[in-house]
Amino acid sequence: MSFVVEFNSLPLESLVKRSRDATAFAARESLAKDRLSLTDFAQLISPAAGELLESMGRRSHRLTQQRFGKVIRLFAPLYLSNECINNCKYCGFSRDNPILRVTLSVDEVLREAWALAAKGFRNILLVAGEHPKFVSHQYLRDCVAALHAEIPSVSLEIGPMEKTDYQPLAAAGADGLVVYQETYDRAVYADLHTAGPKRNFDWRMETPERAYAAGFRRIGIGALYGLADWRYEAMGVAAHADYLLRNCWKAYLTISLPRLRPCAGEFQPLTHMTDRELVQLMCAFRLMFPDVGLVLSTRESAKLRDGLIPLGITLMSAGSHTEPGGYTGAGKEHLHQTVRGRIVKTGPPMSPKPPISGAGASEWATNGQAPKATGQFKIADERSADEVASLIQRLGYEPVWKDWDAALIT
Ligand code: SF4
Repeated sequence: MSFVVEFNSLPLESLVKRSRDATAFAARESLAKDRLSLTDFAQLISPAAGELLESMGRRSHRLTQQRFGKVIRLFAPLYLSNECINNCKYCGFSRDNPILRVTLSVDEVLREAWALAAKGFRNILLVAGEHPKFVSHQYLRDCVAALHAEIPSVSLEIGPMEKTDYQPLAAAGADGLVVYQETYDRAVYADLHTAGPKRNFDWRMETPERAYAAGFRRIGIGALYGLADWRYEAMGVAAHADYLLRNCWKAYLTISLPRLRPCAGEFQPLTHMTDRELVQLMCAFRLMFPDVGLVLSTRESAKLRDGLIPLGITLMSAGSHTEPGGYTGAGKEHLHQTVRGRIVKTGPPMSPKPPISGAGASEWATNGQAPKATGQFKIADERSADEVASLIQRLGYEPVWKDWDAALIT
């Protein structure tokens, strides 16, 4: 039995309909409960519950302080590679995008990690596209092992693997795995993932369970808002979280709430979720799952992030770069394009016009400046990690840079 079996029998359509049709009275009843069902969650993300946002926010704030105290944990993404064999229409790293690519060497990864450590980070998320040739299992293991010696908490956001391929990564020191389903709508998923192994919806959906079985003790899930009806996605995430809490209960679960951002390929969001709806959803997740970590990235503006801190967010990235080498310039010497798995040189690194063609290529290939690897998407909150930490303190919270050490379980 896996979540896929449960997912296939979920009445998602009728839950979403129930959400759309819920009355303010029904939403208020759900808000008053201590333990929420999926139906209650549907009513809390309803248009009618939008009127109760202040009450939801107060309750969410209280619950978060009870369970987590006044702390915000900070982490930084460290991009290893922007090579990918998948075509995901909404992602800048899609294999057919004519972008500048690079895979950092282990030494370059360490340089990036030291730069992050110098800023204070002790919690790093290693991110890579899915490409067995450039991002091999051995390469990932080497990166984790090298970082584990320096950084107490290393998590991964990489292409899904078999349990037996995850085990050496966990053994090398990776303690967390993040995998977003992107969209829980099968039809939309099939339309957006046009090539590569990521086309397999079920395989991806079962990834958190394989990661748990392999020994990861932190599991992160989420949907990418902007691909399908946000209420449908939210119901999928809630059902998935509920399943994982029942079946992978030794793991610490986090839910992320990423919304689409501009990226190479110029994909436009297919659906819209307002700031107010994002706040409502975050509060609903907190009320439904009081002990789950809620993650907010630099995809959101500084103003919105600041407003969400007291409401229920527990983990934030800060000062992020979404391109390999973003923190130190590492890897600039090996920039290239990749065509059918083959490296195509782009000329000298400082060449003002790399020989790249294709719709929308030049701006994203050069980022409008001297060539550097192309980022996965444009971030919205461009403040430094220091500035974010100071803001957290001004709001009366403690920024926590290190929240885990393997010594805790050895
Ligand atoms: S979303 Fe992931 S798998 Fe898809 S193109 Fe981007 S990096 Fe590759």
